[in-house]
Amino acid sequence: MLSRRAKEVSPSATLQITASANRMVKEGKDVVAFGAGEPDFDTPSVIKDAGIAAIQSGFTKYTPTSGIPELKEAIVSKLKTENGLVYSPANIIVSCGAKHSIYNTIQVLMDEGDEALIPVPFWVSYPEMVKLAGGKPVLVATSLKKDFKVNPEILERHLTPKTKILILNSPSNPCGVVYRRDELRAIADFCVKHNIYCISDEIYEKIIFDGIEHVSIASFSDAMKKLTVTVNGFSKSYSMTGWRLGYLAAEPVIASAVSNLQDHSTSNPTSITQKAGVAAFSLGEEFFGDIRKKFQERRDYITSRLDKIKDKIGYKKPEGAFYIFCDISRTKMDSFTFAKRLLEEKLVALIPGAPFGCDDYVRISFATSMDKIKKGMDRIEEWLWERQ
Ligand code: PMP
Ligand code: GLU
Repeated sequence: MLSRRAKEVSPSATLQITASANRMVKEGKDVVAFGAGEPDFDTPSVIKDAGIAAIQSGFTKYTPTSGIPELKEAIVSKLKTENGLVYSPANIIVSCGAKHSIYNTIQVLMDEGDEALIPVPFWVSYPEMVKLAGGKPVLVATSLKKDFKVNPEILERHLTPKTKILILNSPSNPCGVVYRRDELRAIADFCVKHNIYCISDEIYEKIIFDGIEHVSIASFSDAMKKLTVTVNGFSKSYSMTGWRLGYLAAEPVIASAVSNLQDHSTSNPTSITQKAGVAAFSLGEEFFGDIRKKFQERRDYITSRLDKIKDKIGYKKPEGAFYIFCDISRTKMDSFTFAKRLLEEKLVALIPGAPFGCDDYVRISFATSMDKIKKGMDRIEEWLWERQ
């Protein structure tokens, strides 16, 4: 009865496991939740107040499908000053979350049978989105030893006449790698040489450690800018996951195709949320500096704890985002077994690596308080010793 597309798509493991851990907490169980893919701080009041003011002033009707001019202007100015990307509002489409921006981009770029290069590990939704468009996900293996990064040489091995897009995510979910300027330049050259579109998912841009710079791949040349769809959103930077607001910047022909798609699917992102989004841009470097400091302290603490059990668990120190991707191959458990048993036996919830393309790994999110992190790491350590 279901369509072929619907049958091929799996549920989101990240959303499902987070929901079941939250349910256990509500039932009064002392679960330490390392699953969350969302920041643990509250949405800043300047943003909430703008949302409330929008409701009170009656800004509660349809808006233009692709976003209100005020928000698009704010995005244009952000991309120019922070990312070195010069766009006009015609290049910008505001959507119901970055997930929606990526989904729509894939829908308008891919035909049946077109291939998308997806470096492994990948964020769980990329291959599913490609399949939903009738495309073929081509998974490009990386390794912890090589920092989970791809380069033109590796990508070239996966090229076929059907290759249409590359999906790049830096800083990355789940492994926290951040591509450097020269690495991105080489990938940009590869895209231009082979005429491959690049969806650059930059949603974790602001959560970046050790003073490493975030670079937008579209900034290297006009040719690369034409091939790139830069995606960003408000969920991670401003802790606005529930508000559902994201955006993309692309060539007008791609942007207007996405707008047409939204016309016939979601229409505009919520009017109130868009006003809140405008207010978010009033928060400056001081705000992000505080967030980065907090996440970096947590990362440093967890890695110091993992160092004590490195005969059992391996990892690559994350340079951005709020996840640590842990190599559990030495425990001889697959990732679902590891996650299930840890939850049942020690009440610690984390995400198995299989849905990210790596069954030898699990993902720990450190978007939770230091107290919870300490408790969770104590339990993991204890559990691994008990299992010896
Ligand atoms: N990209 C990545 C890599 C993510 O982890 C997420 C998390 N939700 C998203 C995109 C989508 O974010 P949102 O739809 O909440 O803007
Ligand atoms: N992206 C987050 C995560 O990876 C949130 C869940 C989701 O949207 O998949 O956990």
